[in-house]
Amino acid sequence: MPENSASRASGSQPNRMMLRRTLFLLTVCGIVAFIVLGARLFKLQIVDHDLYESEAITQQVRSSAITASRGTIYDRNGKILAMSATAQNIFISPAEIVKNKEDPVLIAKGLAEILGVDYGEVMEKTSHTQSYYQMVALRVEQDKVDEIRAFIQEHKLTGIKLEPTSKRYYPYSSLAAHVVGFVGTDNSGLGGLEAYYNDELSGVNGRVVRAKNAFGTDMLYTKYEEYFDAEDGSNITSTIDSTIQYYMEKHLQQAVTDFDVRNGAAAIAMDVNTGEILGMVSLGNFDLNDYQKLNDDYQTLVDQAEDPAVKTSLFNQLQQRQWRNKALSDTYEPGSTFKIITLAMALEEGVTNEEDSFYCGGSIQVTGDTDARKCWKTSGHGSQSLTQALQHSCNVAFITLGVRLGAETFYRYAESFGFLKLTDNRDAYPSATTGVDLGGESGSLWWTQNVFYRRDNLSQLAAASFGQTFTITPLQLITAVSACVNGGNLMQPHIVREIEHSDGTVTRIEPTVVRQVISEETSATVRRMLEQVVCDPVEGTGKNAYVAGYRIGGKTGTSEKVAQIAAGGPNEYIVSFIGVAPMDAPQIAILVLLDTPSTETGIYISGGRMGAPTVGKMMADILPYLGIEAQYSEEELATMDRSVPDFSGMSKDEAMNAAQQAGFDFRIIGDGSEITAQLPARNAVVAAGTQVILYANAEPSEAVEKMPDLHGLSYSIARQRLGFYGLFINTNVMSRIDAEHMLVSWQSVETDEEIKHGTVITVTLVDSDSSMDGRY
Ligand SMILES: [Zn+2]
Repeated sequence: MPENSASRASGSQPNRMMLRRTLFLLTVCGIVAFIVLGARLFKLQIVDHDLYESEAITQQVRSSAITASRGTIYDRNGKILAMSATAQNIFISPAEIVKNKEDPVLIAKGLAEILGVDYGEVMEKTSHTQSYYQMVALRVEQDKVDEIRAFIQEHKLTGIKLEPTSKRYYPYSSLAAHVVGFVGTDNSGLGGLEAYYNDELSGVNGRVVRAKNAFGTDMLYTKYEEYFDAEDGSNITSTIDSTIQYYMEKHLQQAVTDFDVRNGAAAIAMDVNTGEILGMVSLGNFDLNDYQKLNDDYQTLVDQAEDPAVKTSLFNQLQQRQWRNKALSDTYEPGSTFKIITLAMALEEGVTNEEDSFYCGGSIQVTGDTDARKCWKTSGHGSQSLTQALQHSCNVAFITLGVRLGAETFYRYAESFGFLKLTDNRDAYPSATTGVDLGGESGSLWWTQNVFYRRDNLSQLAAASFGQTFTITPLQLITAVSACVNGGNLMQPHIVREIEHSDGTVTRIEPTVVRQVISEETSATVRRMLEQVVCDPVEGTGKNAYVAGYRIGGKTGTSEKVAQIAAGGPNEYIVSFIGVAPMDAPQIAILVLLDTPSTETGIYISGGRMGAPTVGKMMADILPYLGIEAQYSEEELATMDRSVPDFSGMSKDEAMNAAQQAGFDFRIIGDGSEITAQLPARNAVVAAGTQVILYANAEPSEAVEKMPDLHGLSYSIARQRLGFYGLFINTNVMSRIDAEHMLVSWQSVETDEEIKHGTVITVTLVDSDSSMDGRY
């Protein structure tokens, strides 16, 4: 029986009701945050539009604004994430059109043609003959501006005017969309760094002040102008690494597709030693250059609706959803990933140690629980060491640790780790945020102290020990886990590392230790044990995160969505995995969270099956990028993919030797004395033991094959199957390719697709040991 339904069955009714009430509050808070952002956008873009326009008119007649250039946002390596470029506002001066006897029809037609604006609207604007300022188009780009200038010159017009302004560009469009944020029509930030650092980025607009007559129009003869220089905005360097961000987005998107994830996904990568956020993903995302537009998946949903009212409401809902940063705006029950924290508390308090042992008979009864509380493995884990209890993600062992700690101590550590903030009001729900420098962060939600500290009812403490009945943000979890592995220091998470002001001075945001939570010694023990969850091919529930050559540690998590329980809906899960590497000297932690994978894919829903392989793939790309060298074991060296030598020009004997030395099997086609062609091509990376085809005075066949279905096959069987068709194989993550439970879960070419001989197919292997099924 899965651990969640276990706790659900055993949780006493009043507890569930309180949880529902709590949940209700939480949902309301979430909705309020939602409405605030939505309302601000609506106000700026719709309600205030006319106000801004008329204000602009007044200002422009009396003093022309010289827009300060908005600062650039860089990633940590100086790549531009957001920048401003010069553009022009195009306006007309109806008063001058009349005075200089210019043709309004010619002007309106010309503007409509070049700018694509509405001819009728421009004509209407020309009728305001007292006005010197009627805006036609904002932030027009250079090519159109050139056409306008040519048009003005050709007809010698004075009634069309240009004023310089700036336009925001996002060179990577959707990359790190929720981190970068975007600006509204008034050029002020509405999300992400653009909003949080709006004051720094904006700068101060300059002005030209003109002498005016009583009607507010410029005096035509005694001209007097005063010029106030604009002060440009500061440039900001984020801690985000766009390459790491790219790898995370790529693999998270793949996971969303593979597991048919229904409610979005989030991922965070953190430098565990500094608290710097290296990557932060929230899916589905959107194009910052066109932020109002829905992403393709969401647009498809809108298109499927038929009723126009439903379409509109769906559009608005999905737009809000795509702008929401799941990594810090959504709270969730962390489930078993939280066992890392319970473990750290228990080791630090000395209520357990590495020599400790536990017995799991499948359930445990604590004071106040009416029924025994079940482990996710209802048949029990039997007798196990502390390390094994973590590897197995055994609920019984962790409830034992929680009860040994006691409720007060547990809460004191939860506060220390940044998960909650205790106050003197023992009836208040303790809540906390990390205070990261990004907007939209939600607060956690925990039981009141009066409920949690009850000595006659330990059921809340029992559930909290394995990560249930409270909610936190993904950012809170990764920050706390970083403290568990970095020597014990809770670091202030942050996403900006440098602000370069327009006068050239630089403010650096240095890593800040919030407090030391556990000792270096405890941290070292936690590191050792986390590595065993991933590297143990038999006992580790996190074994799908394994990457050959790297020391990765981590913990799985699966939790049933409380909102669903409260609403009485069908079971829905959030699956997650948090990984850390390299375990001898941790540098990076990555948390992946998949919200509501579909039950229809046939893949067992759990953090071990879905979260772990996703983090593994990210690590496989990111660790080499960070310059962390892989160190392979003999066994790994013997089985890993390898590069095909160049056999051309070799004699048959030489080719035979070269193939054997490189770890390949071979066959020779043709009767020539020397190799003239080969499949696969030289330098192709394919599985060890692959049979390469060598042509001696013969040519490879031009035949086309249909891609076979490899799903569920082991690597070696899949290799043989492909070899039969003249096709080849490699894996996109070097995992334990010879373990009998490692089966193909994904192939780079779809079944039945036509492909040429010699094509190399990439597959993903996932451990599908069914004895591991369970919501751990
Ligand atoms: Zn157990």
